[in-house]
Amino acid sequence: MSALRISVDGPAGTGKSSVSRGLARALGSRYLDTGAMYRIVALAVLRAGVDPGDSAAVAGLVPAVRLSVGADPDGDRFYLADEDVSAEIRGAEVTRAVSAVSAVPEVRQRLVELQRQLAAGPDGIVVEGRDIGTVVLPDAELKIFLTASAETRARRRNDQNVAAGQPDDYPGVLADVQRRDHLDSTRADSPLLPARDAVIVDTSAMTEAAVVEHLIALVDERSGVRR
Ligand code: C5P
Repeated sequence: MSALRISVDGPAGTGKSSVSRGLARALGSRYLDTGAMYRIVALAVLRAGVDPGDSAAVAGLVPAVRLSVGADPDGDRFYLADEDVSAEIRGAEVTRAVSAVSAVPEVRQRLVELQRQLAAGPDGIVVEGRDIGTVVLPDAELKIFLTASAETRARRRNDQNVAAGQPDDYPGVLADVQRRDHLDSTRADSPLLPARDAVIVDTSAMTEAAVVEHLIALVDERSGVRR
């Protein structure tokens, strides 16, 4: 069991979610997917009929959004009010809306506070997101920033879509990856950047298993463990 608080940041398609889950499992740590929390708010915005690009209207809705994260042995479950929206928040509509919604400062304020509460406590946790090492947990004991070329990330995402029965559309996926990168890295509030003390890992030529192994070695090094 590791007592470290570990942040894993980076853009979409770097294998961040699978790697973070794999790392948490290997360490016997808790795991928090902060992207899912932004997705719940984006879903609430869409359901309220609010334009995701209308920041004032999105900000006005924030206090009324009731979201919660539940631990489940088969993967975390995400709730909007009391409804399990774990599947719906992965849909195309939410994915299109989430970058605009997550750029609204009131949304970030509320979710960052909630993420800090969820990460608190004496036991270790792997927290995955975009601004975890820079904003949410600036004093995390180990900060990882995963990268990969836009083309690699689009290829991975497209393969996942095809496996899930969606159409094969590499050019469309690449355009979406580049659009989201641009929005996430140029927004004024908490742009996607590695923390100064983050370890940058380029996963372009690595399998998921190799990345997890590499991160476990970094954890061991940080905690002074010899295997
Ligand atoms: O990781 P995932 O793709 O589910 O994240 C969805 C979106 O939520 C990202 O594109 C980003 O706009 C936003 N996000 C964020 N800060 C985080 C996690 C996610 O702005 N810590």
